[in-house]
Amino acid sequence: MGTLTAWEQTGYFALLRTDLLRHGTALLAGELLARLTEELDPHPASFDAMLRLLEALGAGEPPLRRLADFARVLLTDTGLTPGLEQCVNCGSDVSPQQGVMVFSGPRSGVLCPACPPRPGESTVKISAKLRDFFIAGQPPDGKLALEITRWLTYHVQNQLGQPLRSAPALERAIAAVLADMKAKA
Ligand SMILES: [Zn+2]
Repeated sequence: MGTLTAWEQTGYFALLRTDLLRHGTALLAGELLARLTEELDPHPASFDAMLRLLEALGAGEPPLRRLADFARVLLTDTGLTPGLEQCVNCGSDVSPQQGVMVFSGPRSGVLCPACPPRPGESTVKISAKLRDFFIAGQPPDGKLALEITRWLTYHVQNQLGQPLRSAPALERAIAAVLADMKAKA
């Protein structure tokens, strides 16, 4: 057995330590992976996607767009793919009205215009672009990546029945970036 006498930390993922948005993105992704998988139940696709995400974050790529790519793999791999084509209430095909659809967190899918939410049921509006991303996987732009990030948190929290601990910090980092962009505009 060798004896470790010296070590040197390599520069992996250095940007994650200096950029709050990247840091928050990595924390959320790590929490999602931990909460949606269990020990001794390997999910190699999700693990690979996590590694790709960390490398992309470390390499300066757009964090929320890469988080969206990660989410698409993770949700498929863990069986949490939302129902975005048929109404979760009546099963009819749903086409977006003016590019917008109603998504039920508790029922993990879209509602058609003929099916209102149940009394007290939580819903959010999602764009047709979000649906297209999860069905066809075209690369998202920044605006769509932000929508996907917020929807992802909503969706997973509904499925877990618990809040994600890292979500508020990421939301604060996003708010700071948006405020900064607004100030510079
Ligand atoms: Zn319906």
